[in-house]
Amino acid sequence: MDGMFTDDSSAIEITTGGNAAPRYLTTENSPRLLLVDDEPRLLSSLCALLKDRGYQMLTAACGAETIELLNKLQFDLVLLDLRLPDIGGHEIMDFINAKGIDTKVIVLSGDTGIEAAIGALKRGAYDYLRKPYTREELLKTIDNALQQRRLESENRSIASRLESSEKLYRYLVDSSPDIIYTLDQEGRFTFVNDRVQQLLGYGPKDLVGRHYSVLVHDEDIERARYVFNERRVGERASRNVELRLKSLTGSDQERTFDNTLMTISFNSMGMYSLGKEVVDRKFFGTYGVARDISDRKRAEELISYQAYHDILTDLPNRILFKDRLGLAVIQARRNTSELAVMFVDLDRFKLVNDTLGHVKGDELLQQVAERLRNCLRRGDTLARIGGDEFTVVLPELRDRQDAEIIADKFLDSLRQPFTLDSKEVHISASIGIAVYPSDGESIDELLRHADVAMYNVKAQGKNAHSFYESSMLDASYQKVALEQSLRRALEQGELEMYYQPQVDVLTGEIVGAEGLMRWNHPERGLLTAGEFLPFAEENGLMVPISDWMLGALCRDLLQWNAAGGESIQLSLNISPHYLEHGGFYDKICGTLTRFGVSPSQIEIEITENVCIRNPQYAIEQLNKLCQLGVSIAIDDFGTGYSSLSYLHRFPVHTVKIDQSFVKEIQRENGHFPVILAIISIASGLGLKLVAEGVETKVQAHYLEKSGCKTMQGFLYYKPLSHTQFLELLREKRAISA
Ligand code: C2E
Ligand code: CA
Ligand code: CA
Repeated sequence: MDGMFTDDSSAIEITTGGNAAPRYLTTENSPRLLLVDDEPRLLSSLCALLKDRGYQMLTAACGAETIELLNKLQFDLVLLDLRLPDIGGHEIMDFINAKGIDTKVIVLSGDTGIEAAIGALKRGAYDYLRKPYTREELLKTIDNALQQRRLESENRSIASRLESSEKLYRYLVDSSPDIIYTLDQEGRFTFVNDRVQQLLGYGPKDLVGRHYSVLVHDEDIERARYVFNERRVGERASRNVELRLKSLTGSDQERTFDNTLMTISFNSMGMYSLGKEVVDRKFFGTYGVARDISDRKRAEELISYQAYHDILTDLPNRILFKDRLGLAVIQARRNTSELAVMFVDLDRFKLVNDTLGHVKGDELLQQVAERLRNCLRRGDTLARIGGDEFTVVLPELRDRQDAEIIADKFLDSLRQPFTLDSKEVHISASIGIAVYPSDGESIDELLRHADVAMYNVKAQGKNAHSFYESSMLDASYQKVALEQSLRRALEQGELEMYYQPQVDVLTGEIVGAEGLMRWNHPERGLLTAGEFLPFAEENGLMVPISDWMLGALCRDLLQWNAAGGESIQLSLNISPHYLEHGGFYDKICGTLTRFGVSPSQIEIEITENVCIRNPQYAIEQLNKLCQLGVSIAIDDFGTGYSSLSYLHRFPVHTVKIDQSFVKEIQRENGHFPVILAIISIASGLGLKLVAEGVETKVQAHYLEKSGCKTMQGFLYYKPLSHTQFLELLREKRAISA
């Protein structure tokens, strides 16, 4: 061994790097050559020849050394002498092949036999140069061998890059959340990714070769055909269509098809061979992506369901109702038939809601909806259009009686008490009916007239039904208008407190006055409380109105006192709703304090009904007021349910004999046991007595004779405006002074 490579250790340094820098490396990528010859002279001349060409070179002088180097290092090219002292060139090449060592071999041999050459080439030698060779011949062969090796390795890396990129794309396609497929021009699958298995239950192999229509839901076949025949080029080549696909569930072997339908949005575009001109392009298939939008579809369905239904009762809402009514009207017009629209409004639902709470109120509505629904035929529509308001359309009416029968069924179905929290609750409904075409030809007119008829039922005492009549229009319109203007009245200060004096018949003194509300109606003049407060009660206006009342009363009272009326007690009427409404005590107490009014000058009038609705709370509130010094009177005594029982449950100071009993007294020496009983109870319990609605001397006389000394009624005074009342006080003072 001589030349550039002298010992093993230097060769080993190439691979390990070692501590010292490798001495024989030129550049990292320069070709590595192994020169093998047992003749030192030839080896060194070879080295000299190749020296300046930028190769990394090692030399070996025998077969064993060659094999050792081949084992340790990688070479791009071996220049191999065939005849070596120990192991021959052919054997070395066998070794190379057996070990799969990747290198080129050029055999240099003095052997002139063709055998040796064939042996070398058979074993994969790149070339065979017979010694003596020319310098050019050798250099050219080396160049070619190295060039080929470079090409081969480039090819290899391209191939491996291709392979991994193919793997990548395959992976991307198969793990796509969408079904990706191609179809041939007959519409048969040529490719489907793996996702189809998961989404539809078909293996891709089952589908390839089959027509796409095996997957498409029967009703969508037409649309599918249209979009799959898409063959246009350019921008308009892709299309979207929503299709339902059949899904295969259950065992594949059994081939049982449970056709679960999925909605799929398709994006398919014609696939074209790469012709240069658009006109040259031949359609040969379709590429498509199918995305599973079933969840979105379901969500959309739910949203649209919710847009058209009442969540509480699951009934159609106003929008859907109007839609159905519209269709029914069109149909009735076409068939010249009749149809009925009903307006069903629950009676006193508000009371239930206020007493039992909204949750129970909702439960009641659900139960009511269920009962009403059970009274209807298919094709009829029941809707809930507001709080306790239901509407019905009965298409194809044979005659009006049909509607009447249904309305009766409704009322009947509500008669059985409802159970809420193991409490029995009774509720009824008022039903108005309008019939197409006689009561209206448009949706709105029919609904409005059914509503008018319903209001009419309410006004007539509720719990019944009524057909619309044009004469109803005036009265009910007035009521609707009244409700609206009542809200306005409160805002614009049209309400006013009037005062009706209570007279001590023995002294003739005014000992008290009852505050009574009046409405200065801009068109209809002065309205008494009885004419508008029931509406306020029904429409939830009682709370704001009562709030206003408290303030007005206190303000006026301060002026009475200034006019010398400190000894007069002011009675005020409290609506049961207000008393039951949370914070009643706080409101009264707060108002009295704010105005500096003494509680002892105030008397609260409550009716007996207050105590049957929510006795616990009412009694608690009233007790607190009593402790404050406010007196309590029972209004309309004897007309309510539980006259006596509660007299012991909280402190009552006064009993007001109801006007209906007073009215009975028409003869001077008659006998009126109810009045006598009330008077004896009151005096037995040490209560004050006030007779209400005293209009005649006969009445006054009888009452006085029987033991009632305080009177209120037209015989003495009508309710007076605040100004009139102040005048009266001043007059009285002037007289007594
Ligand atoms: P009420 O408490 O029984 O009031 C007595 C009603 O009888 C008053 O009617 C009064 O004007 C009327 N009246 C008085 N003297 C006579 C008479 O000699 N003959 C006849 N026929 N009637 C007489 P009004 O003012 O229409 O009040 C009706 C009801 O409205 C009251 O009945 C009371 O329950 C309620 N109310 C009146 N004002 C208020 C108020 O400010 N707040 C509340 N919450 N309710 C009120
Ligand atoms: Ca009263
Ligand atoms: Ca009364």
